[in-house]
Amino acid sequence: MKTILVFGGAGYIGSHTTKLLLENDYNVIVADNLQYGHKEAILTKHFEYADLMDKESLNNIFEKYKIDVVIHFAGFISVGESVENPMKYYTNNVIGTLNLLEIMLKHNVKNIVFSSTAAIFGNPIYTPIDESHPTNPINPYGMSKLMIEHILKDYHKAYNLNYIALRYFNASGCDEDGIIGESHNPETHLIPLILKAIKGEKEYIKIFGDDYETPDGTCIRDYIYIKDLAMAHKLAIEKIENYSGSINLGTSKGNSVKEIIKIAEKITQKTCPIQIDKRRQGDPAILIASNQKAKEILNWTPSYDIEDIIKTAWNWELNKKF
Ligand code: UDP
Repeated sequence: MKTILVFGGAGYIGSHTTKLLLENDYNVIVADNLQYGHKEAILTKHFEYADLMDKESLNNIFEKYKIDVVIHFAGFISVGESVENPMKYYTNNVIGTLNLLEIMLKHNVKNIVFSSTAAIFGNPIYTPIDESHPTNPINPYGMSKLMIEHILKDYHKAYNLNYIALRYFNASGCDEDGIIGESHNPETHLIPLILKAIKGEKEYIKIFGDDYETPDGTCIRDYIYIKDLAMAHKLAIEKIENYSGSINLGTSKGNSVKEIIKIAEKITQKTCPIQIDKRRQGDPAILIASNQKAKEILNWTPSYDIEDIIKTAWNWELNKKF
């Protein structure tokens, strides 16, 4: 049985991946500093409090367990905050990852699956975005992730570190059984905010710009279901000793902000109050992934669609556990 260290396993994508790995009989150790993670989302009995900036806390984990693969989810993720406070992003995301890699290599742990992002591409020059598309991040968040991808590539060459960097497009939805879900504080993501507006918890949803060059003027994104993302991590673990590189993860389909609102209204049978606002800085008009490489390398294809995403997110919104 393989032992997987899920760093950041109390967070949104980390907890859903942990759940899938446990269901597939992996031995899962969750590490988290609980700054943004939720203790209610820790699904394994093996929990270690650890912080990427505290090498001793990292070292203790590798002394205690024989880890086969690390999945590293523990990054800061807010684009706007990264523009205002780049130091926070470069420190945690880049130096924190360097610390983790140093301790891994010290203990001869050579396999890492890394959470990367569509934000490394900046404003796309074509869509769907494949892995040959140039990288040109337009905010410190995306840049911090791209820097780590370069570091992983160099460590692969120099130290035989195996890595798979998974570049998520818009992770969304929640587990169907309602045990875990999406809960960010503050919440900035479109789907939970729409559902909060529908529920009456927010006065309205602000649409950030309706003058983009898209059919209805609102931004188009590639929303990918959280359990499909979790599955990609499981497949990456299985593949990692035979492949190192970066892979885009999306559905190859896009929905506009207005389309998402319509689907949410259909599913909830309620009206969503909206307000048109100005564009949000750093938002490209269209982000859609090509998932050809994910198919070829990981044998991964998404199984859920946008309706599944919004149904499960609505179920969570009505029955939140944290
Ligand atoms: N968006 C919006 N209103 C909001 C939050 C998001 O119109 O209150 C738009 C945003 O401009 C983007 C899309 O919804 O086009 C998805 O944004 P989100 O923050 O969920 O994910 P991102 O694309 O930034 O990763």
